[in-house]
Formats: sequence, C-alpha cells, structure tokens
Amino acid sequence: MARIFSGIQPSGELHIGNYLGAVKNWVRLQDTHPGAIYCVVDYHAITGTYDTAVLRARRWGMAKSLLAAGVDPSKAALFMQSDVPAHTELSWLFTTLTPLGDLERQTQFKDKSSKMESIPAGLLMYPVLQAADILLYRADSVPVGEDQVQHLELARDTARKWNAKFDQPYFPEPKPLLTPTRRIMGLDGQAKMSKSLGNTIALHETDEEIWAKIRPAVTDPQRVRKSDPGRPEVCNIFQLHKAFSSDETQTHVAQQCSTAGWGCMDCKKVLLEGMVLELTPIRRRSEELDAEPARVLDALADGAATARAIAGETMREVRGYMGLDVLA
Ligand code: ATP
Ligand code: MG
Repeated sequence: MARIFSGIQPSGELHIGNYLGAVKNWVRLQDTHPGAIYCVVDYHAITGTYDTAVLRARRWGMAKSLLAAGVDPSKAALFMQSDVPAHTELSWLFTTLTPLGDLERQTQFKDKSSKMESIPAGLLMYPVLQAADILLYRADSVPVGEDQVQHLELARDTARKWNAKFDQPYFPEPKPLLTPTRRIMGLDGQAKMSKSLGNTIALHETDEEIWAKIRPAVTDPQRVRKSDPGRPEVCNIFQLHKAFSSDETQTHVAQQCSTAGWGCMDCKKVLLEGMVLELTPIRRRSEELDAEPARVLDALADGAATARAIAGETMREVRGYMGLDVLA
C-alpha cells in the first residue's frame, strides 16, 4: 500500500487554494490509505524574516484548521515538523548529494530570492528539507498543488541518487497526487493564491467576509458591460464554481455567462451559496476546537510520537547504509 505524506507551512491562514489543491485530498486519502502522515512544516516557515509571536500563533492556527478541515487523528498522523528532529538530520545527509545548480534553478527560489537583498541559505535548501520530509517516511505519494511538482522532482532525484550511491533500492521515488483544482489563482487574478501574498480567502472566513472578497474579484477582463458575453473558461470565478458548485449549477452558470444572460454579480452570488455550504461546517469545527484546545494538542502529541517512531527506524537504517553506525 502506498504511503502518503504531505506538509503545509504555517506561513499564514489555511486558504481555499491550499484546501482545493491539497488538503481536501489529504482528507480523502486518509480513508483509503491508513497511516497517512501530515505535517505542519514550521522549519520551512522561517526562511525569511518573521515575528516569533506571529509564527507561534500561526503554527497553532494551522494545526487547528487542518483538523477543522477534516484531518482525522484516528486515521492519519498530524504533527509539527520541529517536534521530529530527524527531518533536519536527514536533510543534512541529502545536502551532500544535491547539486547546487539544481537548487538555484527552482522557480520558487528564483521568485522569492529575487525580492531579497541578502538571501538566506535556508531558502535555497528548502527543497532538500522537503525531500527529507517526504523520504523520512519513505512515502511514495504526495498530495500537493501544482506549484510543488518541481520540488517533488528534486525529491525524486534525491531518492534516485541516494539509492545509486549507496547501492540500495531503499527510498521510493515519490510522485505528486494532484486534484482537478491544482492551481487556484488569487482574487486579483494576477498570481497563484498564496498565504504570503495576501490574496486569499481563508477557510474560516464568515459569509460576509467571503462576499466582501469575491464581490470585487477579477472576472473575464474582456467583459466590460453586462451585455458582453463572458468566457467562463478564462474567468477565475468560474474556476471557483468548478470547485464549489454542483455540475448542474456549473452548466447553468456557464450558459448564462456566455450568452450574457446575467451579470458577474449574479454569478458571484451563486458561487457564494456553494462556498457557504462547504465552508460553514469547517468554520464551526474550528470554533469548537478553539473551545477545546486540548484536542489539538493531543492530536499533535500522538502524531509526533507516531512520526518519531517511523523516522527513528529510517535514520537507523540510513546511517547504517552510509557508514555512520558502528565504529569499526
Ligand atoms: P506560501 O505563500 O507561504 O508559500 P502557500 O499558500 O503557497 O503558502 P504552502 O504551505 O506553500 O502554501 O503549500 C501547501 C499546499 O497547498 C501545497 O501542497 C501547495 O501545492 C498547495 N497550494 C498552495 N497554493 C495553492 C493554490 N493556489 N492552488 C492549489 N494548491 C495550492
Ligand atoms: Mg507555497
């Protein structure tokens, strides 16, 4: 049976892009793949400048939001990366196999570092730590959004290189598991929805907050007047309908839009209904967890214990294969 692993940074609030691209799949896969492992990757969230109090709150908020979104600690292990030190240990071993050029070529590194005066080495090493996160559990399937496919390619290279160098078919080559909604654009339609770009709808926002964000959101730029027929296939709001509305509603919306049957506000109101239907139970569960923080702490403690046991076994074997075990 395939071993599922995935992670998310506590770099902001869990948003509908994370949910539709990855976390919804985590929830689905925990039923079909017992022993799935999900991690709040807090060591990844400190590669830029940050405020310690904000990070603390976000680590907590992310763990709570994942449980509210449906991660079930009786089916999957959920833990904080910094509670399992083997992640950084394996990462160091992998840095010794990773060509610098491969890291410098990563799109996300180029994007993020281009805005920095002084680039922390940790930002460059991020995909090595990510390879360690996955391979520590010898995971072969990783539910992620499309933006992570390139990083996963590096994890696959790392597994291949390590296996060849130490002559062991030990690490599987992890493959991405994508959803039909693998890349959700931000509400301005300019860039991928990202925690760090502030162009998101968070999972726990109220109906009013969601409406305040989708009301001015960009639609088909060529549709200037209500009488202009729209093009659902290029409209960001229609992409969200694909995620939140029934097939029937999608067909209806597409037909109304392309015949200029209604304006964008009418379309957005229908979208709001679908979003409220799916997101209200998540917001309610999040409020329940606020009142019972021990449930979050217990889930994380159990998850970390499970993860440490598997990670400890991997490290013992890896050290052995690499000549880092007994002295003579
Ligand atoms: P940051 O801006 O800090 O990088 P992020 O919103 O990109 O935050 P990550 O923690 O980097 O979130 O990614 C968590 C998961 O969500 C990954 O599997 C990633 O591929 C997925 N994901 C992130 N943004 C989107 C998006 N806009 N559409 C679909 N999936 C996404
Ligand atoms: Mg990201």
